[in-house]
Amino acid sequence: MAVMITEECINCDACAPECPVAAILGDDNEKNPFESERFYVKPESCVECVGHADTPRCADVCPTEGSIVWDMPYTTDFNDYYASGNEEGRYKIREHKKKGLMLPEIKAQEFMAEIPMSARESHANVMDSF
Ligand code: SF4
Ligand code: SF4
Repeated sequence: MAVMITEECINCDACAPECPVAAILGDDNEKNPFESERFYVKPESCVECVGHADTPRCADVCPTEGSIVWDMPYTTDFNDYYASGNEEGRYKIREHKKKGLMLPEIKAQEFMAEIPMSARESHANVMDSF
């Protein structure tokens, strides 16, 4: 997975151009479940910048404390977590024509294994981990 953008977001657009895998949707994107309210990270795409940078690039440039926080790894252990979040509208996970909903059981993503689960469960501010 993933990092998550919270209601602290001020829609400044500093983060989206920095993402190496185009996982961040702006407030004008129809695939953003929060619409114009805030930016959104697609958990099925975010790789926590593993293989791209030492720290999540989006959080590195975000000017707003608490706007980009940890979420659970996008792995099969958290398949139900993401499936229910998708049903409840917290995520808008991509639907593949043949494979269906791109949940972790279909395609898991890289994550920073060194981040404690407690930081993820509490949705701690990403940059506080570095
Ligand atoms: S952590 Fe990296 S891959 Fe994930 S949304 Fe932020 S910039 Fe993109
Ligand atoms: S950089 Fe931070 S405040 Fe700006 S759009 Fe991204 S998450 Fe929101």
